[in-house]
Formats: sequence, structure tokens, C-alpha cells
Amino acid sequence: MVQTKTSPCDVLIIGAGVMGMLSAVELAEAGQRVVILDKGQAGLEASWAGGGIISPLYPWRYAPPITALATWSQNAFPDLIARLRDSTGIDPELLSNGMMVTATNEREKALAWGSGLARAVIEITDDEAQALEPHVQLDETPLWMPGVSSVRNPRMGQALRQVCMHHPRIQLLEHHEVQVSGDLESPVVSSRGQQFVADRVVLTTGAWTGGLLSGLDLPCPIKPMKGQMLLFAPSGLVSRVVLANGRYAIPRADGRIVFGSTLEDVGFKRTPDKDAFESLYASALAMIPALDRVDLEAQWAGFRPGSPEGMPWIGAISDALWVNSGHFRNGVVLSPASSRLLCDLMMDRTPIVDPLPYQPRNTR
Ligand SMILES: Cc1cc2nc3c(=O)[nH]c(=O)nc-3n(C[C@H](O)[C@H](O)[C@H](O)COP(=O)(O)OP(=O)(O)OC[C@H]3O[C@@H](n4cnc5c(N)ncnc54)[C@H](O)[C@@H]3O)c2cc1C
Repeated sequence: MVQTKTSPCDVLIIGAGVMGMLSAVELAEAGQRVVILDKGQAGLEASWAGGGIISPLYPWRYAPPITALATWSQNAFPDLIARLRDSTGIDPELLSNGMMVTATNEREKALAWGSGLARAVIEITDDEAQALEPHVQLDETPLWMPGVSSVRNPRMGQALRQVCMHHPRIQLLEHHEVQVSGDLESPVVSSRGQQFVADRVVLTTGAWTGGLLSGLDLPCPIKPMKGQMLLFAPSGLVSRVVLANGRYAIPRADGRIVFGSTLEDVGFKRTPDKDAFESLYASALAMIPALDRVDLEAQWAGFRPGSPEGMPWIGAISDALWVNSGHFRNGVVLSPASSRLLCDLMMDRTPIVDPLPYQPRNTR
């Protein structure tokens, strides 16, 4: 027997990753009463498993609407992280040390892309690269992007969770797996035998979004794209993000190095495996040979919300059903802008960027 929840809210958000939690904060700050539900503990899926680079990988490969969201977010990150740190005591460790990237046959494209933006892409010599990262060995001269930062995304998730738990207009309910029935115009949300009532429902369910929407007869291309990562013990061997041949090293403030990643279309198969380990470990040692003397602390897997060309769905499916999902490899960097844009649209404010490219159901 499903019972109706007694205290209806303005907005019901399903999924408490970075996208759901930042959307909740934006909407609460705009005066909305928000309930946010997650099937597990908030912030422990892709938003925990990711690397936290505050830039798309190879940003010149993406369409201008992705660059527009990334640029807005990159400008917002320093203030966002400072506010999270100051209000919760949890430091998501924004490191603004830049990114070295080998662009191989895309050098001209990368330089042209950078010249149109305030975030520079700079040519450096091998000696300069060596001086920046003495322990890194690359098989070609990298480009240098001094404006790129990284965050310790698990801590960003923890800090957002604290903010949501203590915000007077947000109720965060964990371990509430949601079923959505009804139809697109009148979605019915239930969990643990209760029906939740709200004026509007927002799906921020990451890799699970396509499954939920297809249950409402809306084909949606958002699907899990598994990524595996390695974590090396503190060594201080790199200070900057280094990206070469699709693999990257991300330094943490305590000297640990996160090394990633694989990109696998295998559904929700969560177990990390030996093949990925061997491939990632070989790439890590090729990039930073001295890692062979550093302990490996962990290997894990997470599910990116994969979407065609990495284009998220942000906006209304109907008056009652909204979505902010499908950010694929860039959900951490895109989260501030995507959540602000969603809130602008829901509150009928002037949007920070043209919302059309992210319009759900836009077949592109
Ligand atoms: C290996 C890897 C490396 C990455 N590196 C980077 C990077 O360097 N930079 C970057 O910007 N991005 C990176 N990403 C991508 C980024 O992590 C994701 O795009 C982003 O975290 C997506 O956030 P989200 O909130 O949409 O999804 P999630 O964090 O997955 O949150 C979705 C939430 O919805 C909940 N949920 C799902 N279904 C239900 C249901 N039925 N009921 C209730 N709750 C439900 C889940 O429990 C989950 O908590 C990486 C991802 C991976 C896996």
C-alpha cells in the first residue's frame, strides 16, 4: 500500500550526485522547498568515482555549448569551493596548477581553440615541460594549459552533502530508491512504500536517467559508461594534471596521484578488473616511471552518465518533469553552470547561457 507523503514540497530531486545536490542548493537559494532522494548515500556514485579535472579532456574536441558551460563553471569554481570549505570545514582542495597535454595531430586545432578564449593553450619546449614536471616522461612535447584546476571530488560531494543536510529549505533522504511511474506530464514518484508529492520533479540520476525515462516511454540516450581508476600512495611525483594518449594523472594535495581512466560500454558492471588494472598501471609507469616504487592504494570503477557528444539534457520534459543529466566525462566541471541553468529555467529567470542545445528531446 503506497501512502502519500504528508509534507509536499516545491521540487523533488531524484539523485544526489553533484548535479542533484548543486541543483538543490540553487533552487533552495531561490526560495524553493526541495526534497532530494538518493538510492544510496549522497555523492558516492560517479561524483565520487571521477577524477575532478575542472576542464573537459581535450576541450577543443567539444561543441561550443559544452565550452560555454565549462567556461561559466571554471569561473565559478574558486568561489564555490571557498564557500563549501568555509561553511562545512571540508576542503575540496581546489588545485590551480594547470594541465600539460599531448595533443599529437591536434596541436593546431588546440592552439586555435585556445586563442579564442581567455584560458590559454600555450606551446612550451621539452625543457620547460621537464622543469614543470621533472618525473614525467612524454613521447612528444606537450601543450600547457595554465588555467586548468582540479578538485578532490569525493570531498566536494561530502561538503555538498553537509550543505544539503543543514539547509533549512532542503530535506535530503538517503537510501530511498525511487520508482517513477505515471507519465511524462504527471510523473508519480514513490520510494519505500511512500508516494512523494511535488509541483515539479527533477531527474539528476546520472547514468540511471535513460532507464528511468524509458520506463515513462521516453527514449533517452543517457546510459552508463564505466570508467576505472587507480590511486597511488602519497609520493608528490606530479604537481599538475598530465594528460597523454587518453590517460591522465591528477595530483592530490597530500601527494597522492589518481590515474585514469578506462572508457567501457558494459552496462552497470561495477567490479574493477585485472585487464583494466594492467592497462592503467602500464600507462601510469610509462608516464611517471618512478611510480614503480610507489604503493598502489586502490582501484575502483564508476558509471559516467554517457550521452552523444557529451551533450547533457538540461531543462523541462513537461511542466512537471525536468532533467539535469548526461554530462558524461565532464559532470564535475559542468555542475555549477548546469545547476544554475536548470534553476534559471525553473524560476523563469534570464538563463546564463542559451538553453536550446541542452533542451531534452532535442534530437540533434
Ligand atoms: C572514472 C571517471 C572519471 C571522471 N573524471 C572526471 C573529471 O576529471 N572531471 C569531470 O568533470 N568529470 C569527470 N567524470 C564524470 C563525472 O564524474 C560525472 O559526469 C558526474 O559525477 C555526474 O554527476 P551526476 O550527479 O549526474 O551523477 P552521479 O554522481 O552518478 O549521481 C547520480 C545519483 O543518482 C542516484 N540515483 C540513480 N537512480 C536512482 C533512483 N532510482 N532512485 C534514487 N536515486 C537514484 C545515484 O545513487 C547517484 O547518487 C568522471 C567519471 C568517471 C566515472
